[in-house]
Amino acid sequence: MDEGKKKLIMIVIIVACIAAAVIITVATQRSGDEGGISSIQSGKMFWIKCRDPKCENTWQMDNKAYFEYIEKNREGMVVPGIVCPKCGQKDAYRAEKCGKCGFVFERVVTNDVADRCPKCGYSAMEELRKNAGGGAKRPTTPAPATPAK
Ligand SMILES: [Zn+2]
Ligand SMILES: [Zn+2]
Repeated sequence: MDEGKKKLIMIVIIVACIAAAVIITVATQRSGDEGGISSIQSGKMFWIKCRDPKCENTWQMDNKAYFEYIEKNREGMVVPGIVCPKCGQKDAYRAEKCGKCGFVFERVVTNDVADRCPKCGYSAMEELRKNAGGGAKRPTTPAPATPAK
């Protein structure tokens, strides 16, 4: 066997070892905290709205802080209210912000889309469905986003 071929084989073995190491590292990291709070990446903001009609305070909360709060305070299946910083009542819940008029409202589970704005009727979910294919019933998949890099 000549030197050139030996070198090539060595390089192939080294690359294979590195690839295996990377795969093992990724696999073990993934299985380590699967589904746990620690796997949630913070940095996404959720809207929160107070249910008190006299208050209706809205503010933003980090998604990780939100899930940590829910995990800590939940009683069975009941999602706990968040203490409103304005009126002090534990009666605020996760909400959506309308992509059209900016109104913040709590999601409601109906036969209709859950994120329809009660003020202007706009629904981001509905828009997605329309764009996904002329009202045909199929799972809505957001359009592949072009990387911002
Ligand atoms: Zn309030
Ligand atoms: Zn709206």
